[in-house]
Amino acid sequence: MPVLGHNVPKLGTRNTWQRSAIIHVLQDLEKFSSAKDIYSELLKRDKKVGLTTVYRTLQSLAEVDAVDVLNISGGETLYRRCETDSHHHHLVCTKCGKAEEIAGGPVEKWAKSIAREFGYTLTGHDAEVYGLCPSCSSPSDLPKD
Ligand SMILES: [Zn+2]
Ligand SMILES: [Zn+2]
Ligand SMILES: [Zn+2]
Repeated sequence: MPVLGHNVPKLGTRNTWQRSAIIHVLQDLEKFSSAKDIYSELLKRDKKVGLTTVYRTLQSLAEVDAVDVLNISGGETLYRRCETDSHHHHLVCTKCGKAEEIAGGPVEKWAKSIAREFGYTLTGHDAEVYGLCPSCSSPSDLPKD
């Protein structure tokens, strides 16, 4: 488990106990989780934080880029506290929410050149890769040889 202490100041000054409790849960959950998942994990730990506070806190953490946000189409907004502060992308399991942090590779260059081509000033880009992780891929789905 890497030490995450170095990037804690980024989380802002309004560091209430609710906020720290939510951050701790996020650090322990290695998958993208919904506000409800985080809420029930807090209850399991005897931390009584209201669901509204969970939503609000996650939103404010997302605003300062302290958590990564994922919107799977039709699903709930999912949150994850990433191990790296630098720009990265995700390979996400759509079944269990487990995610790998991956480099954007050619996406980075492509985003820049496409913006330039249309005369846009690039302000950001999004590219996530979805799939089933090894433990969620059922053996019958694997190609037989
Ligand atoms: Zn991430
Ligand atoms: Zn999975
Ligand atoms: Zn990128």
